[in-house]
Amino acid sequence: MESSGNNGDFGRGSGGAEGETAQPVDFVRAAVRDDVAAGKNEGRVCTRFPPEPNGYLHIGHAKAICLNFGIAAEFSGRCNLRFDDTNPAKEDVEYVESIQEDVRWLGFDWDDRLYYASDYFERMYACALELIRMEKAYVDSLTAEEIRAYRGTLTEPGKASPYRDRSVEENLDLFERMRAGEFDDGAHVLRARIDMSSPNLNMRDPTIYRIRRVRHHRTGGEWCIYPMYDFAHSLSDSFEGITHSICTLEFEDHRPLYDWFQETLGLPSRSQQIEFARLNLSYTVMSKRKLLQLVREGLVGGWDDPRMPTLCGLRRRGYTPASVRNFCERIGVGKRDGVVDVALLEHTLREDLNARAPRVMAVLRPLRLIIDNYPADKVEMFPAVNNPEDPSAGTREVAFSRELLIEREDFMEDPPKKFFRLAPGRTVRLRYACLVTCTGVVKDERGEVVEVHCRYHPRGEAEDLPRARATLHWVSAPHSLPAEVRLYDRLFLVENPGDEKEGKDFKTHLNPGSLEILDGCRLEASLGAARPGDGFQFERLGYFCMDPDSRPGAMVFNRTVALRDAWAKIVRKTSA
Ligand code: ATP
Ligand code: MG
Repeated sequence: MESSGNNGDFGRGSGGAEGETAQPVDFVRAAVRDDVAAGKNEGRVCTRFPPEPNGYLHIGHAKAICLNFGIAAEFSGRCNLRFDDTNPAKEDVEYVESIQEDVRWLGFDWDDRLYYASDYFERMYACALELIRMEKAYVDSLTAEEIRAYRGTLTEPGKASPYRDRSVEENLDLFERMRAGEFDDGAHVLRARIDMSSPNLNMRDPTIYRIRRVRHHRTGGEWCIYPMYDFAHSLSDSFEGITHSICTLEFEDHRPLYDWFQETLGLPSRSQQIEFARLNLSYTVMSKRKLLQLVREGLVGGWDDPRMPTLCGLRRRGYTPASVRNFCERIGVGKRDGVVDVALLEHTLREDLNARAPRVMAVLRPLRLIIDNYPADKVEMFPAVNNPEDPSAGTREVAFSRELLIEREDFMEDPPKKFFRLAPGRTVRLRYACLVTCTGVVKDERGEVVEVHCRYHPRGEAEDLPRARATLHWVSAPHSLPAEVRLYDRLFLVENPGDEKEGKDFKTHLNPGSLEILDGCRLEASLGAARPGDGFQFERLGYFCMDPDSRPGAMVFNRTVALRDAWAKIVRKTSA
């Protein structure tokens, strides 16, 4: 059977120049286009995606990835993958590896341009020495607390540190000894010497190096001083010849500092920082710190728990790379922060799965249905359409026999008026097979229906029957395969769990019913060929994806998304 290939890439390959989109050009693309038209950087476009390897990527990162790689592809440029690994205390190779896997999964490729800020530590150090020689940096020996107090506030100017006027010689000596490991953490820092009364607090002599006696996952024990983000980022961009440094809005106030480093050092390559609104999604949290808490405290199964907004979680849940890319395209790129309804993500997912997911029959809560007028030893094979949206997907055969299983909720002994499915005396169609009429039930000692009896109507007879108002899915009991199915709901009960304004910890909003495990589900036999990651539509039930926890004879499926939005919210677009 052809699977929906959860890992397959049916989309835009490495970056998506294909297909003119009808969408208006966003302001980032407009800026890049203008720069190219004006011949800036000789018309060259080079972007980067710069994750810090301190967690797994989430759907917010996907927005940044699609933007950076997308723009590079659209302007015949390049996009680098660069690890911003300047804070060794929180970073790990586990994250370095998962991030690469996730970017590739999304369908993007950095070719041979995989970089690490830590590769530039020596060059950055040389730049720091250069700033000291220019009297544009100094070693400060105030404590972290004092530095904070001297910094002033938005309404009050800062105060110069008593160490601000150290001589170049003394600064060089101290900084070299900082590197040599002569001092304890926090004893000194290196600060840029800019303007203690700047209205922009980022310009009030920001720290650019600090002492951290921590082993680095790549440079090991080679360094005990590490550059701060703003310094490292600006320099790394310049070293790589990045033309457009696209980042999220919180860095807007850092742009003057970003520019100051490149200008002051006279770096040959200058980049334009452009800020856009980060993606926030309803009913989930997006900060790596919070996601890490969920993992560490065992509140989810791991980073790739199918309820997580991480890319590995979405992948395990059954999201396709194309659906994530389409979503990122649809939300657009804007300058205003907002929250996007997760229903839009699910809608985009359904659209994609509807087009590509093979249809199969599976029964989640089985009820035996016996066809009394069908011979016990007879088996018929009926052709079933694999995907009505895609004729090239062809058909498969499903086995039909006297003993079937149907969905428990498709039968009611005493149905209300609006219930059109199976009930005593009622006729329904069994998908791909025949019409059956319910003739009776068998109950257990507690009075619960355990068996439904029917007679089927051979072709000639069926024409005279009243029209069946429902078509049920089913599996043949002796042919079906057992499986566990995991149903997921939103991880949080409120739209904005990360908003801790009222002093409530985000974890208090966790949805206790976000995972329901169904044992004893039965699947049609063709699913015996499924492999982890394969996605299907279980007819009438939703989209499902085989979980890597599956073992021979013990399949596990995740519900990716139901056929319709059970939360029935209007899809609304608040960002961009
Ligand atoms: P978090 O706040 O979740 O820890 P981060 O911004 O610290 O995320 P980085 O690894 O530094 O994570 O992010 C890499 C890139 O992805 C940055 O350019 C950042 O601006 C971008 N990014 C991170 N989160 C989002 C988001 N929610 N929407 C869009 N872009 C994002
Ligand atoms: Mg960051």
